[in-house]
Amino acid sequence: LIETVTSSYDIVARHYRLKRTLLGYDELTDYDRYAPLPIEGVESFYTWEQARDIVLDAYHTFSPQMADIARKFFDEKWIHAPVRPGKSGGAFAHPTVPSAHPYVLTNYTGQARDVMTLAHELGHGVHMYLSGQKNGLFALYTPLTTAETASVFGEMLVFQDLMQKEPSAAARLKMMFQKIEDTFATVYRQVAMNRFEDGYHTARRQQGELSAEQFSAIWMETQKAMFGDSVNLRDEYSIWWSYVGHFVSVPGYVYAYAFGELLVLALYNLYREQGADFVPKYIDLLAAGDSDWPDKLLARVGVDLNDPNFWQGGVKAIEELVEQEEALAREVYPELFA
Ligand SMILES: [Zn+2]
Repeated sequence: LIETVTSSYDIVARHYRLKRTLLGYDELTDYDRYAPLPIEGVESFYTWEQARDIVLDAYHTFSPQMADIARKFFDEKWIHAPVRPGKSGGAFAHPTVPSAHPYVLTNYTGQARDVMTLAHELGHGVHMYLSGQKNGLFALYTPLTTAETASVFGEMLVFQDLMQKEPSAAARLKMMFQKIEDTFATVYRQVAMNRFEDGYHTARRQQGELSAEQFSAIWMETQKAMFGDSVNLRDEYSIWWSYVGHFVSVPGYVYAYAFGELLVLALYNLYREQGADFVPKYIDLLAAGDSDWPDKLLARVGVDLNDPNFWQGGVKAIEELVEQEEALAREVYPELFA
């Protein structure tokens, strides 16, 4: 996984070079990384009913069984969606005991992103539902490594569907930018942070206690490896490692996070290659919940986690998004590429 991702860092640089062009800057600095594109007023809005139909249709095209389970969440009112004073922000799905059912919370405002969030949380919901039915309480809770198997997958199905339906190329470009930056945050950024984590643990073993400056030097080295020359990292950026609590509180977290995300993208790539044959294997994988180690569960669906080609499939899915993004940018801003 690490080798596959670090040897494809140029995908990250490609995206940020494009962003620099679209923002009209000579160089992109670290604080520009998350700047929105100057595209306003092109987004489509979706009513709750439209969102429900989009999500259920996309699920149904993949697997009628998954759609039937997701439909229960709407029909039986297991989702709390309106924005209310005092309600917690964000979105999540929460399991209960297997004899009851999971719940979903979102704060729905009708943007494309909210539709994808709904698809994401319903993926968790379906995963919990299947796993709860098959395993009972003790294997119901999936660990971080496989927790996103249904959520990110469902989100990807809906993303592709929304992209097809969106008539405005500018709106599609904006959605694609968001999707790519979310994906970078969950795969590439986590892997670069894993290289940092590995780097300072190794240095600590070899050199003894490290100073903050030494941490910063390892941080900059591992971040520069990812961004290449696409983003100018100021000296002030070198202290950013200190805001990531996981390095102290949950060592290894960033690896598990990247693993979980790239796993799903690689599975999504298998679905594109295998089509309908992939679907029952995938449903079995969800139903297996936490009943065995991830490598054992995946071996049952014919996936070898030690095979670089499998991970390469996930990277390929990301690279294709960047290719589509570049094509969209040329379509929306032909003058910038003349
Ligand atoms: Zn999630």
